[in-house]
Order: sequence, then structure tokens, then C-alpha cells
Amino acid sequence: MMRYVAVVCPKCGRASATKATAQRHQCPYCGTIIRINDATVITVGDSKKVREAVVRYNTQKKV
Ligand SMILES: [Zn+2]
Repeated sequence: MMRYVAVVCPKCGRASATKATAQRHQCPYCGTIIRINDATVITVGDSKKVREAVVRYNTQKKV
């Protein structure tokens, strides 16, 4: 099963999902290239779990 991570963009503070094997991920909101190793990871798991975590995080942040 493919694993995903939910990471927080250090620039705009929004969460987005990418594959757990990725080293870099471009923030879909502001375009910043996020290095996964340096980023704040909210959760790791399957795509459904990670998507839900992303939505929950971004809703709570009200960004
Ligand atoms: Zn961003």
C-alpha cells in the first residue's frame, strides 16, 4: 500500500499531502518547494487518512 505524509508548508502554513517516498514536495497553495525531511509532518498513513488530516488541519488554521 502506498503511504503518504501530510506536511506543513513553512511559508504559508497550510498542510498538503504527498507520497511518503518523496524527498521534495511543492506546496499547492504558494508553490514553495518543501523538503520533507525539514518539514513538520502532521501524519503518515494511507491516502484517505492523510487527506482527512490535511483538510482538518487547513480548516482549523483558517488560512
Ligand atoms: Zn505554501
